[in-house]
Amino acid sequence: MRAPESRGAIVPAAAVTSASIAAPPSLAARATSVEGSPLREILALTQRPGVISFAGGLPAPELFDAEGLRAAYDAAFTTSARRALQYSTTEGDLELREAVAARATARGLATGADDVLVTSGSQQALTLITGALVEPGDVVLVENPTYLAALQCFGLAGARIVPVPCDADGIIPEALEDLVVRERPKLLYTIPTFQNPTGRTLPAARRAAVAAIAARLGLWLVEDDPYGDLRYEGTDVPWLAAHPGAEDRTALLGSFSKIMAPGLRLGWLRAPAALRRAAVVAKQAADLHTSTVDQLAAARYLAAVDLGTHIAKVRTAYRARRDALLAGLGEALPTGSSWNRPEGGMFIWATLPEGYDATALLGSAISHDVAFVPGAPFFTGRPDTRTLRLSFTTHTPEEIAEGLRRLGTAVHGDRYVFGPTPGHALGHAPGR
Ligand code: PMP
Repeated sequence: MRAPESRGAIVPAAAVTSASIAAPPSLAARATSVEGSPLREILALTQRPGVISFAGGLPAPELFDAEGLRAAYDAAFTTSARRALQYSTTEGDLELREAVAARATARGLATGADDVLVTSGSQQALTLITGALVEPGDVVLVENPTYLAALQCFGLAGARIVPVPCDADGIIPEALEDLVVRERPKLLYTIPTFQNPTGRTLPAARRAAVAAIAARLGLWLVEDDPYGDLRYEGTDVPWLAAHPGAEDRTALLGSFSKIMAPGLRLGWLRAPAALRRAAVVAKQAADLHTSTVDQLAAARYLAAVDLGTHIAKVRTAYRARRDALLAGLGEALPTGSSWNRPEGGMFIWATLPEGYDATALLGSAISHDVAFVPGAPFFTGRPDTRTLRLSFTTHTPEEIAEGLRRLGTAVHGDRYVFGPTPGHALGHAPGR
């Protein structure tokens, strides 16, 4: 544009009238085919002050090691401010990758720093893997129900999402095999340990079977493990990635969100070389690299602090919270409800008796200042509308007990008396 002081003749552009306005081209079909998460709307309702919420999937903020992390950021600035503030490699900070690799190796999966790509949360790892593997129309197999943002990710890629039949232990290997033969899928996406939303853990024998099916029939495995470190009892089950047959075809996704803090947005991907290289190219196109300063601070943190000690503290608190939820659930839910007893993670999965609808119950729960998430949105295909997910991480045992009293009032009415009073035996199905 000419500077006004030049006083030259300015030729006006053709006058834009409403009659001559053309609408911009439409959004990409994939952008309108995938809906926003219904959970966000539910969570907005539950964030009213005073609501005791079992809805969100958030870690407890009072357990963040804010002091330790602040010291780690200070150290990153004091010793390497120029590096911390500069662009860095797409693969990620070497010290952080070494720390991730060492933790994975200690958990029984030999891993080198070069096997690892640092990502902006494990959610980005999922997006990158999807970009590297999935073409529109490709079949992606998922647990049913499964993590909503994974369904969105595969939907945006134009995948045909096919649910694998599951029981209380997760994927049923025989059903998986039938589906792989019939659908020729590109990949299976699974959260084998303390699954979101069900809290289920796939037993070792089933992991071995899944790995063998993937090897025999030709299939990528995407193993998402943000919760595996949060075990409150029982013994660790080896990663699916560590089972024979899975080595050359598993993308393992890890996260610092639940064991450090989700605001850091730090996750990682461990994948065979060709897939990892494709993910690196996809990441260059997405964000060049994950925040340098956050990576350096996390590396400093891991060098200075015993993460295991911090995780042990988080586990102790979450174990007590899980137990508080389990202790009162039977009285709160309608007679005939059932629920599981996960050995770790953040969620309990419950099923209301025949004739109940969890979304309808949520309405009355919210009017009693307590909330949970109905299970329906997590399903592919026909949802089980009687299911609900209860997260136990963000409230103290006392608050959880109060939340359950409110839920019981929403279910049973105001005149219900809580406690082991004769005549109030609910006869609920015991937690499985
Ligand atoms: N996978 C699953 C199963 C999750 O539940 C979540 C978030 N809660 C993520 C991935 C994303 O985690 P991150 O914060 O590492 O992106």
